[in-house]
Amino acid sequence: MTDTIDRAGDYVDEWNEAMINAARTAAPAGPSLTICIDCDEEIPEARRAAAPGCKRCMPCESDHQQRTRQHG
Ligand SMILES: [Zn+2]
Repeated sequence: MTDTIDRAGDYVDEWNEAMINAARTAAPAGPSLTICIDCDEEIPEARRAAAPGCKRCMPCESDHQQRTRQHG
């Protein structure tokens, strides 16, 4: 019976791997950066999780969006 439990564990591992791979490939603009490209500050993990593919910290991102909006 331990064999059945081992197989169940393998299945969970495969499932977790599939979910991690799906989450990675689902990011629309590639992986998030850990360092903001504008101010070189570290981007909080919560922001990276909320905005996949982000390259800026929160203040720089809103600043960037305001600037790009002005240019149409
Ligand atoms: Zn920044």
